[in-house]
This record gives sequence, C-alpha cells and structure tokens, in this order.
Amino acid sequence: MKRIAVMTSGGDCPGMNAAIRSVVRTALNYEMEVYGIEQGYSGLMEDQFIKLESRSVANMIQRGGTFLRSARAPEFKEEEGQLKAMENLKNQGIEGLIVIGGDGSLAGAKVIHDKYHFPVIGIPGSIDNDIYGTDMSIGVDTALNTILWCIDTINDTASSHDRTFIIEVMGRNCGYLALMSAISGGAEAALIPEVPFKIENIIKKIKERYEEGKTRSVIILAEGVGSAGDFGKTFDMIGGFETRITVLGHIQRGGSPTHFDRILATRMGASAVDSLLNGESGVMTALQERKIELVPLGEVLNNKRKMDKKLLEIAEVLSK
Ligand code: ATP
Repeated sequence: MKRIAVMTSGGDCPGMNAAIRSVVRTALNYEMEVYGIEQGYSGLMEDQFIKLESRSVANMIQRGGTFLRSARAPEFKEEEGQLKAMENLKNQGIEGLIVIGGDGSLAGAKVIHDKYHFPVIGIPGSIDNDIYGTDMSIGVDTALNTILWCIDTINDTASSHDRTFIIEVMGRNCGYLALMSAISGGAEAALIPEVPFKIENIIKKIKERYEEGKTRSVIILAEGVGSAGDFGKTFDMIGGFETRITVLGHIQRGGSPTHFDRILATRMGASAVDSLLNGESGVMTALQERKIELVPLGEVLNNKRKMDKKLLEIAEVLSK
C-alpha cells in the first residue's frame, strides 16, 4: 500500500487533530503518501484532497477541532454520492482510507467496505461516548474535564447562595457524560435517558439533602432527557424552588485535548495505519482494557452501549 487518505466527519471533537497527526507521521514512516480529505464525506464527493507532509501536522497535537474540517453530508447515503466518492478515491490513486468520526461516519465507512470492497478503517471520535465496542472514544475525556471545570465553578457560587442549579450537558441519547461528570463533580443527581425517573422523587431527595444541612444542590441533566429549561420550570413549580439553569452547549466540544485524549488518538491513528498495512478493512480501532483492538464495524453499529450498573449504584450512594 503506497497511498492512503484520512478524513474527519460528523461532529468534531478534541483529539481529532492528534489522530490525523499520528496517521500522517506513522504512514510517512512506512514511506507511504498521505492525503487529507477536507470536510468529511462532502469533500470526498467533491474531490477535496490535499497532500499532507510531516510539517502539515506540526503544532497540531494540542489543537481542538479538526484542521481538515468536518461536515454532515446526507448525499453520501445515496448511491449517486457514493459512486462519485469512489471514483475520486480511484482517480487520486488512494489504496486505503481512515475515517475518524461518530456512529454516522462509521456507517459511511461500513458502506465503503461492504458495498465497494475498498480498504477502510474507522476511528471512534465523538464526545458522547455512545459508540459500542470501545471503552472510550476520542474527545470524551476532554469534554468531561470541561464539564467538570464548569460544575466546580458553578458549585462555588451555588454554595455561596444556597442555590439549586441544573446543568444540561451533551450526549444525545447517551447519559455517559452526565453520569460520569455527576460522580466526579459531586452532584446531587444525574438525570439520564437510560434510567427513567419521577420528578417528585428528585424533588424529595433534594429537599431531604437541604434538611440534612446541605448548602447547595447541583443536578446534571443529559440533553437526551429533554431541555433543562422545561425541566427546571416543572421542578420549581412542583417543588417551590428557584433553580438556576446552565446549558453548557458547544463549549463541551472544543478545547485543547487532555493528555488521555492525545494518547488515545495517537495510539488509534498508528493502529489504523498498521491495520491497513496488515490487510484489515471494515473494522474500528477500539480501546479495550488498555489495549488497542479492532472491532468489526458491523458489530459496532449493530449494538448499543450499556450503562455500567455499578456506576449508577455508586452515583446514587455518593450523592447523599
Ligand atoms: P456525531 O456522533 O458527532 O453526530 P456522526 O459521525 O455520527 O458524528 P452523522 O451526521 O450521523 O455524524 O454522520 C456523518 C456523516 O456520515 C453523514 O453526514 C453522512 O455523510 C455519513 N453517513 C451517516 N450515516 C450513513 C449511512 N447510513 N450510510 C452512508 N453514510 C452515512
């Protein structure tokens, strides 16, 4: 294999640049040529290829976002778009492709492998940690650290005024960010889509905590549960509170990647190149018990991550 390409697709996340850097420098070390595809599947269909050298990825490991830029390109779900993309890969002389992104991007990679029999490796990049088969996706750790900084900051003001705060965090239909940040941020409750709850029970719990002498309360709400604004209104109406709402929003997607994310991205990038050279295709790099393994894309996409029951228990016990 002499020439490969790499792209980032779907929602961006911290660590994507570190992964691209690793792909480029690992491939160059094997004397391969590397092309970057700008704007994900959109750039693949529109022939936006740029040659990447070692210097192209200099000063990049610490930068959030993706310098190749990302996009959502529904046209790639249609055969017409796919044929354009495959034609471009052929004309550019590309022999293997690495796709960094979330579930949707990996579904696109599976099409390239299954339907067009083209060598492709996926790397999981998404702050939500909703991708099956890997303990962690690139970007999750950085997002959690950003959320934690916000919780700590809000805690300071909440304690000074005996206030109840509701903090809405990202994660789509996955409650991982909410649950983990509630545990590490010492919040009173994590409301996540995976676990049904009654608002009356949350109110009762918060009131009991105040009676026991707590001076503030923080509730972490996963966006998959609904909007913090709506939840807060009902919470105040039934419970007689005057809660303050903070929606963290896109702040969670940016920022310089943490040490963990830089190392994870670097290991996955190197593994993706090695895997292409070893003749692998249709698989995703995955962190499993500290090792980087390969998981078939079919298995990744046909399964749903389960919430760790022990962590749910811990969150309940420690929020007292
Ligand atoms: P995030 O988790 O941040 O949303 P994502 O990779 O899941 O990232 P999507 O918008 O779902 O983001 O997908 C990114 C792109 O992948 C789509 O715009 C489309 O080009 C391609 N894609 C998604 N699903 C498919 C599919 N079933 N078949 C082919 N291509 C797909």
